[in-house]
Amino acid sequence: MIESTNDAEKNAESALATQLPEVRTPLESDDHGSANPADDDKTEAGNYFVANYPPFSFWKPELKPSVEEVLERPAPEDTKLGVYFHIPFCRKRCHFCYFRVYTDKNAGEINAYIQAGLKEFEMYSKKPYLAGRKPQFVYFGGGTPSYLSVQQLQDLTGRMKDLFPWDETEEVAFEAEPGTLTEKKLEAIREIGVTRLSLGVESFDDGILETNGRAHRSKEAYRAIDFAKTLGFEQLNIDLIAGMMNETEDNWKRCVDIAIEQQPDCVTIYQMEIPYNTTIFKQMQESGQVTAPVADWPTKRRWVSWAFDRFQQAGYTVNSAYTVVKNPDTVKFVYRDSLWTGSDLLSAGVASFGEFGGVHYQNQADVGPYMMEVDAGKLPIFRAYPTNEEERFIREFILQLKLGQLDVSGVREKYGIDPIKRFSKELAEIESEGFLTVDGDVITLNREGLLQVDRLLHGFFLNHHRDARYT
Ligand code: SF4
Repeated sequence: MIESTNDAEKNAESALATQLPEVRTPLESDDHGSANPADDDKTEAGNYFVANYPPFSFWKPELKPSVEEVLERPAPEDTKLGVYFHIPFCRKRCHFCYFRVYTDKNAGEINAYIQAGLKEFEMYSKKPYLAGRKPQFVYFGGGTPSYLSVQQLQDLTGRMKDLFPWDETEEVAFEAEPGTLTEKKLEAIREIGVTRLSLGVESFDDGILETNGRAHRSKEAYRAIDFAKTLGFEQLNIDLIAGMMNETEDNWKRCVDIAIEQQPDCVTIYQMEIPYNTTIFKQMQESGQVTAPVADWPTKRRWVSWAFDRFQQAGYTVNSAYTVVKNPDTVKFVYRDSLWTGSDLLSAGVASFGEFGGVHYQNQADVGPYMMEVDAGKLPIFRAYPTNEEERFIREFILQLKLGQLDVSGVREKYGIDPIKRFSKELAEIESEGFLTVDGDVITLNREGLLQVDRLLHGFFLNHHRDARYT
C-alpha cells in the first residue's frame, strides 16, 4: 500500500530508531516535552534517546541533492567507512516496538528485498566517493537480521563482499532474536564473518517477555548464548531493558544476576521508553492514559545503576551510558566509536540512515516506495541534511559525552573549537546540578549524570534545534 505523504513521513520518523540501540539512529516523533524526565518523572509517550544531531525533523526531502553532490566527489583519504544493512522482518511485533517492521512477508518477498538491497549497494559501489573503499565495520540491524535463512544470509553477504570487500573490516556486528537461532544458523552467521553477535534477550523472565509481546522465551536465550560461546565470536553482547511492563525490583535484580552468570563479553542496558506508534502508546490513547504502564524514570535509573554496580562487582567495566564490558582492553564497539567520531556510513535497506562527508540521509521508510525506487535505478533516499562545521562539532561532542568521560582534546584539535570554552555556561550549569565535573580537558559524568545523559545533551544543541521535535 502506498501511503500518503504524511504517513510516509511519520513512518520515516518512526523507523528512525531502527539502528543500534546504543547508536540508534533509525527515531521517531521525539517530542522533548513529553519525553523529558526532568520535567516529569513519569514515563510519558515520546523518545528520550538522542541518536543523532541535528534533530531528524530538520532532515528534508528537498535536501536530497546534497547527498548526490558528495557521492560525485573523489573518495576521501582519511575517513573511515562503515556499511549498514537493515532487515525489517520480525516474527512478531513487540508491544514497545516503534520501528517499521514486517511480520507477514514470505520467503519470495524477503528474497526480493535482499535483491533490492544488493542493487542499492551496487549503485553506491559505482559512485566516485565510494568506489574502491573497504569498510572498517559492517552492521546488520533491524528488525531481525537473524530472521533470514542460512541461504539468504550467504547470498546477501557473499554479494556484499564482492561490492565492498571485508578483508580490512575490523568488526562485523549482527543483531539476533534468540528464538530465530538454530545451531545451523548460528554456525552460518559465524562463518560469514560476524565478529560481534548481539542477542536481543531483554529479560530472562518468561512472564515479562510474554506481557511485552516478545516472540522468544528464556530457554531460547540460554540455548543461543550457550551455543554462541562455542563458536568463538569475538564478542557476545546481550541486550536488557530496564522497566518493561510488569517489571518488579526483585525480578529485575534476578535477571541482572542471571546475565552475570551467563558471562557475555558485553551487556547493553536500555531504559524503557514508549515512543509514539507503539502498541503500548495506542493502548494509552484508547484508555486516555498519559502515563505509560512502565516504571517511572527515577526507578529505571535506580535499576540500571544497581545493575551497573552489580556488574562492576562481577569484574565488568561501565563504558558508556548503556554498556558494561567484561574486558575494556579487548571488547571494542567499532561501529559506535567510529560513528561517534564522524565516519562515513553507507546505509542500505528500508528506513536505514547513513552519512557521507557530513551529509546525513535516510531511506524511504516503507518497503513499497523503497523497492519501487531501487527498481527504477534510483537511490531510495527519502530525506537528507547537510551539516555545517559547527553542527558536526556539536554532534561529535554530545555523542562522545555518552561514553561518560570525554577528553576534549581530540574534538578541539579536529574542529579548532574548544568545547570547554564554547560550552562554559552549559557545562557550569550541569556541574552545578551535580551531574558532571570538568578537570582540565576531561569532562566526567557521575552515575546520576550518565544515566540521564540523553536529557542533558539537549542543553548543548543550537538554540533553533532545542524545541524541535527530535525526528
Ligand atoms: S524484535 Fe521486537 S523490538 Fe525488535 S524490531 Fe522486531 S518487533 Fe521491534
